[in-house]
Amino acid sequence: MFDRPLKILLVSPEVVPFAKTGGLADVAGSLPKALAVVGNDNAGNDVRVAMPRYQHIEDGSYKTDFPVPFNNRHETAIIRESAIVSHYRGIQKTIPVYLVDNHHYFFREGMYMFDDEAERFAFFSKAVLEMLPRLDWQPDVIHCNDWQSGPIPLFLRTHYRQDPFYNRIATVFTIHNLQYQGNFPKRSLKILGLGDEFFHPERLEFYGSVSFMKAGILYSDLVSTVSRTYATEIQRPDMGERMDGLLRKRSKDLYGIVNGINYHEFDPATDPRIHRNYDKNSIANKKENKYAIQKEMGLPIKDVPLIGLITRLVDQKGLDLISEIIDELMEGELQFVVLGSGDRYYEQMFESIKERYPEKIGLHLGFNAILAQRIYAGADMFLMPSRFEPCGLGQMISLRYGTIPIVRYTGGLADTVSDYNPDTGSGNGFGFYEYSGKKLLRTIKRALQLYCEKPDQWDKLVKNALGLDFSWARSGAEYLQLFQEAINMRIALQRIA
Ligand code: ADP
Repeated sequence: MFDRPLKILLVSPEVVPFAKTGGLADVAGSLPKALAVVGNDNAGNDVRVAMPRYQHIEDGSYKTDFPVPFNNRHETAIIRESAIVSHYRGIQKTIPVYLVDNHHYFFREGMYMFDDEAERFAFFSKAVLEMLPRLDWQPDVIHCNDWQSGPIPLFLRTHYRQDPFYNRIATVFTIHNLQYQGNFPKRSLKILGLGDEFFHPERLEFYGSVSFMKAGILYSDLVSTVSRTYATEIQRPDMGERMDGLLRKRSKDLYGIVNGINYHEFDPATDPRIHRNYDKNSIANKKENKYAIQKEMGLPIKDVPLIGLITRLVDQKGLDLISEIIDELMEGELQFVVLGSGDRYYEQMFESIKERYPEKIGLHLGFNAILAQRIYAGADMFLMPSRFEPCGLGQMISLRYGTIPIVRYTGGLADTVSDYNPDTGSGNGFGFYEYSGKKLLRTIKRALQLYCEKPDQWDKLVKNALGLDFSWARSGAEYLQLFQEAINMRIALQRIA
């Protein structure tokens, strides 16, 4: 353990509350708050965050600007400074957030999916590094997240290798979803300022492309992902997205740390977005949230089991299994409420299901954070039959609201949900392993049976869920340990050099 606070820079393409498209933004917005207070005697750490300033971000005030040597020219980076605030045990800490701007690259409608992604995020990565001496701040460790910041460890070990300001900075690279890899044509090497010798399978080449994700995995001191099970799964050919060989090579440096959720934002006792607040001593109030969501979704108001589903509508989420079993499932006395946005294919699938069972299925297509909270609060069960799931936040949020998860045991779902055992009363949900509709249906039926036939046991399960802790406290401490290890590794390497 270090006896001094660490200087930690977290770099992410999205951070709540400034920009969000997925779970990464929640992590990047809440992990720094935990890091700011964990450590020896809760002394906390000097944590700062860097992200791009997209067009829609109005926050922050001008801090500095400077030319970034990039792609054989100089591009200007403009830094604005904003902040996120952490409250913990009466202590308030302000975490600076550096918003990296360049009008050409970031003043556009939307955040991703442009033709020049390689250039945009190579620039961003370079600008973050160039910013540090201008702030007169030398972090002990840079925590990079997903492919958009993959060039940072690469740059540190190439362009900045001889520079004493940079060469003692350790790096940790976290994979939030291995499916999104940032693979670009070979000519991107020039953008990275590197020669053809880097187009080699031992370096940046990845099946004919240059991969930013591979850069992060290969050049960082330590690698992590967002659950232990996912850390193991991605080393297998069937789940490794073609990176499994590389990940096996780095196996001893690869860690899994499960995400937490923000326990202040997600609290059924105080959440202003839900119809009626409740906690483990007032679970009867939860039912009023069920009636409220039934009304809001145009369903008959009655005390039948209500299953919720809140998800991006993509293949990853196992939605084909739901389509497979829906007719048999709907034979029972229950309701199903769906909130989702994404692929048109799945939108149509749910529209057609809704048409067939208008009295039993409530459907809202689109992204709606307020409605999501009402579903978490009002549903009895929450469905996540994912094909793969690096961590998953939905199951933790639902448990926080006393809504019992039904999951496929993969990735973080396997690490956070355990099967209910009616004999011992242990477990917090229901799950299955084999990716099949039959197994999903059988698992839902087990949950329904307990709900309908053993209401006392069900209530115990709900109360137990409401008392669980999936906050960042434990995972924040694990990240801190990981950073300390990366720093030690770097110190040792420097001694050898
Ligand atoms: P992923 O990051 O793969 O989308 P996670 O479970 O890690 O999956 O995180 C998804 C987060 O986004 C959860 O907080 C979930 O409640 C929220 N979410 C997903 N779809 C919607 C939607 N259509 N409307 C509101 N919130 C959503």
